[in-house]
Amino acid sequence: MTKDKIYFDYAATTPVDHEVFEAMKPYFTDIFGNASSIHQFGQEARSAVDNARKISADFFDCKGSEIIFTGGATEANNLALKGILQTLKISGQKQIANPEIIISPIEHHSILDTARALQKEGIVVKYVPVDNFGRIKAGELATLINLNTVLVSVMYANNEIGTIEPIREISNIIAEVKKDAKKSNGIYPLFHTDAVQAVEYLDCNVETLGVDMLTMSAHKIYGPKGVGLLYVKRGTPIARIMDGGAQESGMRAGTTNIASVVGLAKALELIRKQDRSKVMGLRDKLVESVMKQITGVKYNGSKKFRLPNNANFSFEGAEGEGIVVSLDMDGFGASTGSACAAEGLEPSHVLKAIGLSDLDAHASLRLTLGRGTTDEHISKIVTALPPIIDRLRSISGGQAKREFKDKVPDDFGC
Ligand code: PMP
Repeated sequence: MTKDKIYFDYAATTPVDHEVFEAMKPYFTDIFGNASSIHQFGQEARSAVDNARKISADFFDCKGSEIIFTGGATEANNLALKGILQTLKISGQKQIANPEIIISPIEHHSILDTARALQKEGIVVKYVPVDNFGRIKAGELATLINLNTVLVSVMYANNEIGTIEPIREISNIIAEVKKDAKKSNGIYPLFHTDAVQAVEYLDCNVETLGVDMLTMSAHKIYGPKGVGLLYVKRGTPIARIMDGGAQESGMRAGTTNIASVVGLAKALELIRKQDRSKVMGLRDKLVESVMKQITGVKYNGSKKFRLPNNANFSFEGAEGEGIVVSLDMDGFGASTGSACAAEGLEPSHVLKAIGLSDLDAHASLRLTLGRGTTDEHISKIVTALPPIIDRLRSISGGQAKREFKDKVPDDFGC
């Protein structure tokens, strides 16, 4: 049905790569055993999981025993936050009287809502602020950390505006804090990053990043939906949050989804073969053309610290939802705000956090590129967009009334 349509929503999900699909196929039918069974059917499945774990561990430069396969990134993020707090409960930790966690205000809902759920249980949640480009103010982090801080969770790259966060800088700050006995009890604070949007494009070596935990999801990297993983550094005090079987070293109960973890590993393997420069050139061409052809446009997010496949605009006087629907009718798949929030009428929390008014946040369009994007696709959308914006503006009662002050963010120096 969508064969002739053009996809500009790779941050929402990606198609399964044919090589990934081929790698998965035998595990639905021929090699169908339960990886926990001791007979040969089970052992064959087990060895596929072991191999997928090894490939994943190689990718993130960690040990296989530090990988927990999950049913996606939402589950991995829940496990990271709730699992860390759960250990405190179980061990009845007396050193940390009033546990606190620190997150950024632009996290995905799977972090934000998990933090809110913990808050209802009495955990203090603090937010490290972001600047107008969506970069966290790392300098302010140290002032938020105290002896009660058990966890800092900051995403590696944002799903709406593509801003890349200073993960190494944050882990350095935490390492410094850990040296200061007045602020740390040695183990805490732990550091988690949601790397879902980063895995395709950025270095995800957990040693280099200096993280204790890292989340990824296969369907953002041309793997299947419903599978992801949480890297957990050896020795990290974390408890399971789901009761049942002893799979994943007791950390994630439930029969292992063999085909999916095989697909996840294959998708990780394929990343190394990608030419990442291509997508950035196409994105830059897209941004340049849009800014040139349409007045009253703001380019949201950072220019310097940005995923190479992300573009996010606000078109004054045009409704984001209207733009997406019109683009859809013209054969383009795009998004306003985050795909997961697309049903809600609330303006994007990310755009609000970087200082946009409700009006400008509602006027946003996210275009994300991927392996299938071509030069022709860019030319086509750049031709389709101006009349759509004109039409929507005339419906809403006028053309762009003002020029945005910061049309293109000037953050090269920060
Ligand atoms: N974190 C980020 C940054 C995401 O973009 C997404 C997907 N939109 C998720 C977490 C949730 O991933 P999943 O769909 O695998 O649960």
